[in-house]
Amino acid sequence: MIDVLIVGGGGAGLRAAVAVAETDPALKVAVVSKVYPMRSHTVSAEGGAAGVIAPGDTLDEHCYDTISGGDWLCDQDAVEAFVAEAPKELIQLEHWGCPWSRESDGRVAVRPFGGMKKMRTWYAADKTGFHLLHTLFQTTLKYQDIIRYDEWYVTKLLVDDGRVHGVVATEIRTGRIETIPARTVILATGGCGRVFPFTTNAAVKTGDGMALAYREGAPLKDMEFVQYHPTGLPFTGILITEAARAEGGWLINKDGYRYLQDYDLGKPTPTPRLRSMELGPRDRLSQAFVHEQRQGRTVDTPYGPVVYLDLRHLGEAKIDARIPFVRELCRSYQNLDPATDLIPVRPVVHYMMGGVHTDLHGATPIAGLYAAGETACVSINGANRLGSNSLPEILVFGRRAGIAAAAFAKEHREAEPPAVRSQGEDERRRLERAREGGRPRNGRGERIADLRERMQHTLEGAAGIYRTGDVLAKAVDTLAELRERAEEARMEDSSTAFNTELINLLELRSMLEIAQTIAACALNREESRGAHQRTDFSARDDAAFLAHSLVHRAPDGTPSVGLLPVTITRWPPGERVYGRD
Ligand SMILES: Cc1cc2nc3c(=O)[nH]c(=O)nc-3n(C[C@H](O)[C@H](O)[C@H](O)COP(=O)(O)OP(=O)(O)OC[C@H]3O[C@@H](n4cnc5c(N)ncnc54)[C@H](O)[C@@H]3O)c2cc1C
Repeated sequence: MIDVLIVGGGGAGLRAAVAVAETDPALKVAVVSKVYPMRSHTVSAEGGAAGVIAPGDTLDEHCYDTISGGDWLCDQDAVEAFVAEAPKELIQLEHWGCPWSRESDGRVAVRPFGGMKKMRTWYAADKTGFHLLHTLFQTTLKYQDIIRYDEWYVTKLLVDDGRVHGVVATEIRTGRIETIPARTVILATGGCGRVFPFTTNAAVKTGDGMALAYREGAPLKDMEFVQYHPTGLPFTGILITEAARAEGGWLINKDGYRYLQDYDLGKPTPTPRLRSMELGPRDRLSQAFVHEQRQGRTVDTPYGPVVYLDLRHLGEAKIDARIPFVRELCRSYQNLDPATDLIPVRPVVHYMMGGVHTDLHGATPIAGLYAAGETACVSINGANRLGSNSLPEILVFGRRAGIAAAAFAKEHREAEPPAVRSQGEDERRRLERAREGGRPRNGRGERIADLRERMQHTLEGAAGIYRTGDVLAKAVDTLAELRERAEEARMEDSSTAFNTELINLLELRSMLEIAQTIAACALNREESRGAHQRTDFSARDDAAFLAHSLVHRAPDGTPSVGLLPVTITRWPPGERVYGRD
C-alpha cells in the first residue's frame, strides 16, 4: 500500500514528495497529477519568492508586512513559522540548482514587491516559477521510487469513520478507473481562479482538491477572500507581473495621470502620495481601479475598461534584463512593445486566500488527510496575500505536510476497512454512468460550457471587487440551482480515450461547490476587510469578525458557515498604512 499519496504535481506537491523521500526512503510515495507535473500552474509564476536575506531586513518586518497586508486575518503563529523557514527553503532550492538572479558582487538579488516595505523578493529574472518547478521536478527524479501517475484525475477521496484511506482516480489517456489505497493523502491541487470568467489562472485551476475535501466533511476556510491582481491583459487575462512595477513601472489613467497618488491606496485621499504608490497591496490597487472607472477616467475597450501600465521610461536594456518575459508576453498576446507602447491592463482574478482548513503541519480534521499550497488555508494570507509570499508558502508548507504525513503513515499501519472497497466500486459506477451519458441517445440537458459561463458571471456579479448582501444572497441560490442542473448536463462524448468532456464535467461540479462557498462566506461576513469589500458594510469590524470563516457542507449539500478565532501572537490589530513618504 502507498504510504503517502500526493494529489498534485505543482510546487507544493513536489516539495512534499521530496520531504517524504528524505524523511524515510523506505516509505512508498506516489504523485497523482491531472497534468504532467511541469505543466502545473506554478510554472507560470513570474515575479519572485519572498524571504528575508538582505542586510537591514528582519524576520519581524516580514511578519508584520504579511499580517498587516492580510488585514489582521492571518494566524500569526503560522506567519512566524513561514517567515522563519522561507529563506531556508529558498537556499535549499539554490542547492538543488535553482538559478536565482544575482547582484554583480555575487549576492542573491532581491526586488521590492507590493506591500513589502523591504526588498526581499528573490527572483530568477521573471520566470521564477518555471525555474522553481524545474528544480523541484529534477530533484524528485533523484528518488527513483517516487511513483508517478501523470495525467490521472482524482475524482474521490476514500474516507471511512473520519479517516482517509486513499483515492479513486481515472487515467485520462485510457479512461481506466482505479482505486488507489493509501495510508495518507496530501492535497496539493492548487487554486480555483477558474470559477471566475476573467483570471490569470491556468485552465486546470478548478478547485478539485477543495471540493474533494469539502464533500468528505473537511471544512474550507476564508473562502470569501479572492485576490484580484491589478494588472492583467484585457481579453486573455494573462498576468503582467508585479515585478514590472517593482522595476519602476507606472499606472496611468486615460489622461496619462498617475492616479494612485490620489488614493490612500484604495480610497480617495486629499493628500497626494507619490513614493512607491504602484507597489501598494493588490486589494487596494484593484479597488482604486474601480473608483477611476466610476469617475470615467478609464479607457473603454471591447474587453472592458482599462488603465495603462507605462514601462517606456525604463528603457529597453532594463526591460530585457529584468522583465524579458513581460516583453515577450506583450508582443505575443497584445501585439505591442512595452519599450515603446503603453500596456492596457485591468484587474483580474488571481489567487484564493481561502482553502482547505489545516493546522501548521497541513493536517485537516480528517485523520491522515493533509493539504498544502494554494488549495490549503493555513492561514498566512489572511484577507489579502502579499505578492511573492505564495511561492515560499508552497515550499514551507509542502515540506511540513510531507514530514507530517510520513510520520502518520509510519504510525498507522492498519489494513483498509471493507467499506472503502465498496466506496471505490460505487465511484466507478458513478463515473461510468456519467461517461455513458455521452451516448448519442442523450441530446438532453444543458451544455457544460453554458453552465460554466453562467456560474462564472454569477460569481463575478456578486463576489467581485465590491459586493452587497442582496446580490450575494441571490447568487447563493442561483449557484445551488446550477449545481443541480450540472447533475443533468449534456454529454456528447462517451469514449474512454482522452474524454476531456467528462473531465470538464467533473471540474464544473467541483467549481460549483466552491463557487457556492465563496458566495455564502461573503454573504455571512458583514464587514469590509482586505479583498472582501461590502458596500453595505464598508468598515472593518473587529468586534464581530476578527475571525476566520469556516464552511462545512451540510447533509443537504448546502454550505453552512461559522467563525473560528484568529491566532494573534505579537501584533494586535492596527491600521494598514502604505506609501507614506
Ligand atoms: C500567472 C501567475 C503568476 C504568479 N506569480 C507568482 C509569483 O511571482 N510569486 C508568488 O509567490 N506567487 C505567484 N503566483 C501564485 C503561485 O504561483 C501559486 O499560488 C502556486 O504556484 C500554487 O502552487 P500549488 O503547488 O499549490 O498548485 P499548482 O502549481 O497549481 O499545482 C496543482 C497541481 O494539482 C494537480 N491537480 C489538481 N486537481 C487534480 C485532480 N483532480 N487530480 C489530479 N491532480 C490534480 C494539477 O495537475 C497540478 O499538478 C502566481 C500565480 C499565477 C497564476
